[in-house]
Amino acid sequence: MSKFRRLGWLNRLALGLLGVLFVVLIGVFPSNSQEAQTLRVGTEPAFPPFEMKAETGELEGFDIDLMNAIGKEAGLKVEFLSLPFDGLIPALQANTIDAAISGMTITAERAQTIAFSRPYFKAGLALAVKEGNQEIKSFDDLKNKRIAVQIGTTGAGEAGKIEGAQVSQFDSAPLALQELANGRVDAVINDAPVTLYAIKQAQLQGIEVVGQLLTEEYFGIALPKNSPNIEKINGAIATLLENGTYNAIYEKWFGTAPPELPLAAPALEGATAQPFDYGKLFSNLLVGALVTLALTACSIFFGMIGGTLVAIALISPYTPLRWLCRAYVEFFRGTPMLVQIFMIYFGLPALLQGLGLNFNFERFPAAVLALSLNSAAYLAEIIRGGIQAVERGQWEASESLGMGSVETMRYVIFPQALRQMLPPLSNEFITLIKDTSLVAVIGFEELFRQGQLVVATTYRAFEVYAAVALVYLVLTSVSATGFRWLESYMNPLRKMSKAKA
Ligand code: GLN
Repeated sequence: MSKFRRLGWLNRLALGLLGVLFVVLIGVFPSNSQEAQTLRVGTEPAFPPFEMKAETGELEGFDIDLMNAIGKEAGLKVEFLSLPFDGLIPALQANTIDAAISGMTITAERAQTIAFSRPYFKAGLALAVKEGNQEIKSFDDLKNKRIAVQIGTTGAGEAGKIEGAQVSQFDSAPLALQELANGRVDAVINDAPVTLYAIKQAQLQGIEVVGQLLTEEYFGIALPKNSPNIEKINGAIATLLENGTYNAIYEKWFGTAPPELPLAAPALEGATAQPFDYGKLFSNLLVGALVTLALTACSIFFGMIGGTLVAIALISPYTPLRWLCRAYVEFFRGTPMLVQIFMIYFGLPALLQGLGLNFNFERFPAAVLALSLNSAAYLAEIIRGGIQAVERGQWEASESLGMGSVETMRYVIFPQALRQMLPPLSNEFITLIKDTSLVAVIGFEELFRQGQLVVATTYRAFEVYAAVALVYLVLTSVSATGFRWLESYMNPLRKMSKAKA
């Protein structure tokens, strides 16, 4: 017998795991010589004219040209990675990327967690409204108005300071501008060059920029703290400014000569460190948890009504009705919930407006509708299964006692069916609690989105998402316990033993 076989299965398993770990580690830590050459640069390519995707699928824009020029000058091979804007700083902290160029404003808050290169662009925030809006002429007119912004940006920060404003946060600047064009908000606060580009070059209709620039900002290349590349990148920027390359890239994208750039961003002067606000995290997560609960409760309520009706239809003798309901169940079970949410929130209004109806969805009803339609499909199957699991003999016995079909259903079949249904119902309820996080994609601020919003300003990705996970766990554990209690409460054996006692 070979030595290996004598090791016993536990040892063999341990050896196998060690082998897998070794292979994974080799994959994760590439050799140093390769890393020194390549600079992994994160960017969010939905910020034209700074970074965007050309029709060929390649990245292009002012930042892209500049970064490539910097790489050439500094002897670094630039490799771009697309990431969401609010994921760039966490990725830098995690060292998943070595730098980020993404129209990122140098701010004192960000400088607490990451480092910045010297400023490479002078920008500022602009206010955009629908053409001909007489009410909003400046920043001061924004009180109690509906404003769309991009999550984690300086624009979102400014909007947060406005009294009574309802701020909707989107994953990208074009989505926020689209929301304004669709008339669902009154204004957008966003970087001026990007809004102007959307109006002029991308021909976003019916939008104008009003008033003065709200802020003066400088963009910088973001790097992990203590990055060995800071000096190289700053040196390269200085050379490009001197030798005319910077001017040429600027003229290519903006058609004018660039303004003067300071050596350091004024925002960093006199900046003091701010402690992490646990109170704010707690209150945000509490609000998010309540919204998630409300969303789950409404969706399970409507889902139960819909699911019961569909279940009855599924066991009815009417074939067309049965087929129709079967198709419904298959569609909602067989397509991703995310697609259903997009279809309902973005697609349905467009379809109805196309038919000449003046229809627009608020986020809450849209989210409840999507979740209810989806859970009704699953619940219908659970309810149908529960009813059909009760033996036929029970119907016959009730009939022989002279009970009608409604009475039989109510007093004999349903109580037994309900007991059968409880474990899968509990599963569905827990799944639904977790699935509510998907409606974050339409900017709805439930638990997960609240966490995302905190990360967008504090950059404490691990702690915050761990806290979010913990809250979900509490919600699901409480409901699982509730269902278990219900199961034992409805157990006839328990009732019998109680009666005996
Ligand atoms: N300049 C803004 C900021 O840094 C927005 C940047 C972006 O959306 N790419 O917050």
